[in-house]
Amino acid sequence: MAPQIRRIVILGGGTAGWMTAAAISHVLAARKADITLIESEEIGTVGVGEATLPHIRFFNQRIGLDEPELMRATQATMKLGIQFVDWARKGDAYIHPFGDYGQPAGGVDFLQIWARLHAAGRTSRICDYSLPVVMAEAGRFGFPVEDPASVMSTFSYAYQFDAGLYARYLRRVSEGRGVVRVEGKVTSVRQNPETGHVEALSLGEGREVEGDLYIDCSGFRAMLIDEAMGSGFEDWSRWLPCDRAIAIPTENAGPPVPYTRATARTSGWQWRIPLQHRVGNGHVYSSAFLDDQSAEDELLRHLDAPAMRQPNRLKFRAGQRRQQWVGNVVAIGLASGFLEPLESTSIHLIQQGITTLMELFPDGPLDARDIAEFNRVMSLEYDRVRDFLVLHYHATEREDSEFWNHVRTMDVPGSLDEKITMFRERGIVMKYRDGLFLLPSWIAVFVGQRVIPRHWDPRADALPMEQTAESLARMKRHIAEVVEALDTHDAALARYCPAEVMA
Ligand SMILES: Cc1cc2nc3c(=O)[nH]c(=O)nc-3n(C[C@H](O)[C@H](O)[C@H](O)COP(=O)(O)OP(=O)(O)OC[C@H]3O[C@@H](n4cnc5c(N)ncnc54)[C@H](O)[C@@H]3O)c2cc1C
Repeated sequence: MAPQIRRIVILGGGTAGWMTAAAISHVLAARKADITLIESEEIGTVGVGEATLPHIRFFNQRIGLDEPELMRATQATMKLGIQFVDWARKGDAYIHPFGDYGQPAGGVDFLQIWARLHAAGRTSRICDYSLPVVMAEAGRFGFPVEDPASVMSTFSYAYQFDAGLYARYLRRVSEGRGVVRVEGKVTSVRQNPETGHVEALSLGEGREVEGDLYIDCSGFRAMLIDEAMGSGFEDWSRWLPCDRAIAIPTENAGPPVPYTRATARTSGWQWRIPLQHRVGNGHVYSSAFLDDQSAEDELLRHLDAPAMRQPNRLKFRAGQRRQQWVGNVVAIGLASGFLEPLESTSIHLIQQGITTLMELFPDGPLDARDIAEFNRVMSLEYDRVRDFLVLHYHATEREDSEFWNHVRTMDVPGSLDEKITMFRERGIVMKYRDGLFLLPSWIAVFVGQRVIPRHWDPRADALPMEQTAESLARMKRHIAEVVEALDTHDAALARYCPAEVMA
């Protein structure tokens, strides 16, 4: 019988590697496993990944991190959602908030009521009934409360932070918990000739690191899961054709806003992520429709403050590893796959990988059933995120470039096609049992992309029109008043987590 897992080796010290190290060293502390992380300064990290989702707060809490300390250390700002500009039509803008819309009445969901009033011209933007949208647009921030009677209980928040500083912070935490960091470049992998399992990673000059379980956080190269274990790659570029990015930081043009912006461009989109000490910007585009120099020019033309560094060009491919756990190698982070950063999902998928691994962590020898379950859960997570991202492109009315004509008319995964039809016809969001994005997220993007329900729950017709319209008007006024009384985002940061001014 194979022995218990005593030695865990993590290859890679980017966000994925250090998140994994910090989590494992906390969650598995009682097992007293040896945890080693190998990283190479010469290779470096991908160096992007600044916008997150609210789940990161719970992940950080679970692994024992202090929020204000972490936010100060990473120059973080609050994030209430993502603003999408020019996506369905040029001139459009909507925010996908981290929170709910309105309140149900008479047992009828808010969306159904809104759809009916919208058709009758008796309501305003659905965004006006979302506290985080109104807060984001006003540049204000207040912490959520638990009292379900308060509208302040209807939202959550995430961070916009410096990815390099986050990894550095997690390194300090992990090393404090006994994780051993090895600097060096892995040049070859020793595998058992019979089982194919990894036995050791070689750093050259006779240096080797041996382990029982290996976590591949080596980034796009996927050195262990793919090069050594041959996991293969499921390519989704037919649905997500963007395969390039150019990133560039700029100075802050004004106080940072509590949301990320994604502005549609001719053959992709541009991100803007405000931090305390700078703004992260980037252009994600499809090389089939735009060359690199034109993409860079388009990005530089649309910056709203002076650049602080030279542009950094990146290449990627949308898709996932066919298996994210093979033998004694588990892939986490970019090594497991990549879906473009439109909805800030990569760090979440890292968390999901770590959490699932912790839940299934072998008690004794490796068990094929645990491995199969890990692969099933992670593959489903990737599928769900993929569908949500594809919706942003496909549900557009834009006809002003070859790129938009392509994504508007392309075939989409059957699972998404069905979902769009159900929403358009009856305002129904088919519920996924698993998956990251819940009802309000789908509503935000459907309605924001001008997919408006043509019919609604007949019970909404039974509600008295005048009274219902007045109730929505009151709801809108109440949200506006609550927001008006909050701190500005800037003042909230200054009080809660002011970072050091960086030279
Ligand atoms: C353009 C772009 C924008 C993004 N924006 C977001 C965002 O807003 N939000 C979000 O959640 N995610 C975003 N992501 C994804 C996010 O950047 C990654 O998920 C995150 O940084 C994790 O990367 P990683 O640690 O897997 O890989 P990397 O950062 O590439 O780290 C790989 C590590 O492996 C090491 N390594 C590799 N090979 C070897 C070797 N042979 N020997 C030793 N060490 C080795 C490297 O030195 C490095 O330490 C974005 C990604 C891209 C491409």
